[in-house]
Amino acid sequence: MARRLKCKFCENEPYIYLKEYRLFLCKEHFINWIEKYVLETIKDFKMFSKNNKLLVCISGGKDSVALLSILKSLGFKVYPFFINLGIEKNDFSKKSLKVVERVCKILNLPLYIYDVKGILNYSPFEIAKALKRDEFCSICGTLKRYAMEMGARYFNADVIVTGHNLNDETENLLLNVLNWKLTYLARQGPVLKEEKGFKRKVKPLFKLKEKYLYFYVKAKNLPFLEGKCPYSVGASRYIYRKALNFIEENMPGTLLRFYLEFLKKAKPIFENLFKNEEEKKLHPCKRCSYPTSRDDYCLICSYLDKTKAFFEKRVSKKEDK
Ligand code: SF4
Ligand code: ZN
Ligand code: ZN
Repeated sequence: MARRLKCKFCENEPYIYLKEYRLFLCKEHFINWIEKYVLETIKDFKMFSKNNKLLVCISGGKDSVALLSILKSLGFKVYPFFINLGIEKNDFSKKSLKVVERVCKILNLPLYIYDVKGILNYSPFEIAKALKRDEFCSICGTLKRYAMEMGARYFNADVIVTGHNLNDETENLLLNVLNWKLTYLARQGPVLKEEKGFKRKVKPLFKLKEKYLYFYVKAKNLPFLEGKCPYSVGASRYIYRKALNFIEENMPGTLLRFYLEFLKKAKPIFENLFKNEEEKKLHPCKRCSYPTSRDDYCLICSYLDKTKAFFEKRVSKKEDK
């Protein structure tokens, strides 16, 4: 007679099989396993403690929803933080916000929203248009980093926490290696220490595969946004991700080993390369106090000035007609 499969820790039927750990787990023990695993990662990498205030960036995707739920279950002081980028295509920002609001309601947490257009007067899209920049993602990414930093200052948070998973991190690592982006390799990692006016940034989910985070939010019955941002269609990134998934499928555990060995053996070498480089001197922007190496205003303030001038010129042209 065939042997009935059961959870490693109880008599229940398995909900999931964690191939690289050779573990069958029921729903309840899978949830416990994930939360314990993240707690160990937080401790091992000295990310933060129960005394710290955490600005938890939540976009509505499965990773950030899992992150918020795990940190709340572990008893950390979390401040859920949503950046409203005003992406109208496919109603992306509206849908994301709705999901995030539902998640916070279920977890009984207040939600803090940074509305880019409301605070900075212009949406990322308007800024990209004024600067005549096609790579919308680079403007959007810069604005997101700015919003996180300003949000953390506003709430006096000690740490900015994001939901990057193992697939995100190894994909970036592969991209940086294949293109030999040495400065990126020197900085890539799950902990970016606080320095020069910037808050500490950490990624407590970096050792977990996205598949497990998907099963975690499903097990917890939490809503999440399935679709990706309509602008995230980088073809090369898709190829890297597919290649890494193929390797992992055939050799479970390779992605985690690739990343951990990089942190242990290769990152220090890249860090050393730039050790003696003259450090960029940063000082607070004269207008918004964001750290900058520029003489007067920071990059974002200069973007905003250019955008303002661009739209004023268009209005005056219309009035002349
Ligand atoms: Fe912004 Fe979307 Fe690009 Fe991400 S993928 S940086 S959210 S535009
Ligand atoms: Zn069990
Ligand atoms: Zn500024």
